[in-house]
Amino acid sequence: MENVTNIRNVSVIGQVNHGKSTLANTLASIAGIPTTPRVEGSCCSTVNDDNEKDYDITIKPVVFPLYFNVNEDDVGDIQQKSNGSAFMINLVDSPGHVDLLPEATAALGITDGALMVVDCIEGICHQTEVVLRQALIQRINPVIVINKIDHAIFLSHHSTEDLYQSFKQTVESVNTIVTIYGDKSLGDLMIHPEKGSVAFASGLQGWAFTIPLFADRYAKKFGVDRQKMAAKLWGDNYFNSATKKWTKQNTTADGKLLERAFNVFILDVIFKISNTVMNNTMDNVLAMLVKLQVELTPDEMELQGKPLLKTILNKYLPVGDVLMRMAVIHLPSPITAQQHRVNVLYEDHLDEECATGIRDCNPNGPLMLYVSRMVPSSDKRHFYALGRVFSGTVRYGLSVRIQGPGYVSKKKNDLFVKSIERVVLLTGAYVQPVESCPAGNIIGLLGIDQFLLQSGTITTSETAHNLKVIKTSVTPIVQITVESKDPSHMPKLVEGLKRLSKSDPSVHCYTSDTGEHIVASCGEIHLEDCLKDLEENCAQVPIQKSNPYIQYRETVTIESPDTVLAKSPNKHNRLFLRAAPLTEEVSRAIEDGTIHFNAEPKARAHVLSEKYEWDNTEARKIWSFGPNNSGPNVLVDMTKGVPYLQEIKDACRTAFQWVTRESVFAQEEMRACRFNVMDVCMFSDAIHRGSGQIIPTCRRAVFASMMISEPRFMEPMYLVDIRIPMDAMEVVYGIITTRRGQVLSEINCPRTTTSICRVQVYVPVAESFGLMSELREATGGQASVQSVFDHWKMMQFGMDHPDTQKLIMDIRERKGLKLEMPKLETFQDRL
Ligand code: GDP
Ligand code: MG
Repeated sequence: MENVTNIRNVSVIGQVNHGKSTLANTLASIAGIPTTPRVEGSCCSTVNDDNEKDYDITIKPVVFPLYFNVNEDDVGDIQQKSNGSAFMINLVDSPGHVDLLPEATAALGITDGALMVVDCIEGICHQTEVVLRQALIQRINPVIVINKIDHAIFLSHHSTEDLYQSFKQTVESVNTIVTIYGDKSLGDLMIHPEKGSVAFASGLQGWAFTIPLFADRYAKKFGVDRQKMAAKLWGDNYFNSATKKWTKQNTTADGKLLERAFNVFILDVIFKISNTVMNNTMDNVLAMLVKLQVELTPDEMELQGKPLLKTILNKYLPVGDVLMRMAVIHLPSPITAQQHRVNVLYEDHLDEECATGIRDCNPNGPLMLYVSRMVPSSDKRHFYALGRVFSGTVRYGLSVRIQGPGYVSKKKNDLFVKSIERVVLLTGAYVQPVESCPAGNIIGLLGIDQFLLQSGTITTSETAHNLKVIKTSVTPIVQITVESKDPSHMPKLVEGLKRLSKSDPSVHCYTSDTGEHIVASCGEIHLEDCLKDLEENCAQVPIQKSNPYIQYRETVTIESPDTVLAKSPNKHNRLFLRAAPLTEEVSRAIEDGTIHFNAEPKARAHVLSEKYEWDNTEARKIWSFGPNNSGPNVLVDMTKGVPYLQEIKDACRTAFQWVTRESVFAQEEMRACRFNVMDVCMFSDAIHRGSGQIIPTCRRAVFASMMISEPRFMEPMYLVDIRIPMDAMEVVYGIITTRRGQVLSEINCPRTTTSICRVQVYVPVAESFGLMSELREATGGQASVQSVFDHWKMMQFGMDHPDTQKLIMDIRERKGLKLEMPKLETFQDRL
């Protein structure tokens, strides 16, 4: 842990089902790391004697620390400071579900490199793209594993050239994203197969290769330079065996076709091994083994067919060595990475002592530790905070400040001062207590979950700001109300809901004003998994649930034609307001954290005026974002020379949080609204302008201005990615149309000879329930469907339309509100 130059913290990212977990588990099992709880025996800890408790605890495996010794030949390829040939790679698996994208991006922050797994047939998909973009923005470097190569080579009927073309396309797609989002100042972040930053693997069968691996072997055999050889093994390079010359053309002088070097020297070799094993006598196999320099044990000699092939490939192309070597050579150590990551992690305060500690990865600096999520024990009774030490050293008993996401420097909000209860290494399915852990490492902490819901900063510095880790936020658009079947089980259910929201950051559990328990998530299927988990593990009581329903947003479509007025209950204070729509670009920038309320007002104003054409003076006078001080609605002070104005600011902010969380028509959240405070008339006596007077007035003024600005609902839309055989196309289009779907693009996959095509469609979430099973059924199980929340869409009709009125009444009824439309007179006063 102290030898930080020789650590690599690496997340495994990629589309669901492309084989991330299989690969991580294969690597872990080669390294002897337990990935499932052992039945007997205890863990290997020797640090304390009083931690017997830990022996029994198993966790959901997330982190796999893998040890690796680099070959002497390869040490020279490591282009950064290192110390000896022994390396430790902390592999962090990301959660599997499509709906869990936010969790996957949150996990990135504690690592410096990303191992991106891409299915070699499916190529780059939506989720892969999003996560890669997030990684690059946080200055986390990628390497690529083109996976399931066994499937492509042995099962499909692709030619080697087909395979090459599809690999090439994947590499190019990745490099396009890298060019757009990668930080130029970090040098070349592109991936290059010939340099070994792309591996080709079968995670399932446990073998993998890079081009340098083959190049090294050929270089030794033919006595040529290894790098020159590697360069020939990718791209348009052909070897003419008649003339013994390399060429860039795929035809000879006399017009004969040449095969690409990659196909001949790499893919054909693997095909040949497979043919020999599957179709030949043992004698031939033995002769081949001598050539390959692969030795088998007597037991292995007994094997035949596929198991024998797998064993030979494991030895000839050892997945562990290949991938670890790739990580060590192409990914940065914490020392290298933190030098530039500090600019993102601590961007606004780069001259402070905490920034220096992070930049230097200094174990003696102030403690700066980022907690990305909670890892539950198998029985969900304990939660380990999974974190990364960026500066200082965390140790048992150390008194620290735990700063939640709401903490603002020098204030007391969302801050706890506590001692560290226990520091543990997470090793596959087990935890292992340690005394301390220095900067650069990934670590688990017990007891933190009482103070942090999911993520936060832990520090010893009283002046530390929160570490900034970009996180796509979850939009919990699909909801279900739950109660226990037996009323006496209610306390258990409440406790279970707390456990559920801790163990899975992408599910929100909360209690509505009417006392109902609501579980919200970004997808129907994920929600179902959550409820199962709630019933079986977290609460362990039978539960009753409502049908799923979705969230809407309330917004305005025009600027208010008039200024509205609301008077305070005592009639002594007056507030004048106008509403206006906020552009989609600004709303999204607020939602994804690009524009953040906690940012320095000047810097924020600069971004708003430079990028989004705001008036700079107005941009500096934003009073509040809402809801939760971070939502996509803003309150702007447009007044001129009003006395006592600063005194009512806090009250208006409080009101703004409330109105944006529960808007006027159906108490849904607001979105994309801007409210301008035009004028304020205040009573001179302070007693008569307290927050009790101001909050309700501000709320009424906001609602009134909203009602006169052509309000509308927005509904959530999914981007649905469907892969189906050509002939099922018509059926699928039929289903999409009945669900108000809109086809976005139709991508034929000409690079594979199978006639699978890919369709992307927008479908309203409201129409999406059961879509996946309907598509599967209609296509005889052949459709592969993935949906992610994509955007909010303005609904077609205004609030007076009967359809909208019905929707409003349905929501109001569910929420236990009065079944009538709000009236403007309730909120607006006359002069
Ligand atoms: P994840 O969602 O990315 O973690 O994917 P998983 O590791 O759960 O794998 C998804 C499916 O792909 C499983 O059915 C695996 O057995 C299969 N799979 C994973 N790796 C490979 C591979 O290298 N070759 C083949 N043929 N199948 C694989
Ligand atoms: Mg997985």
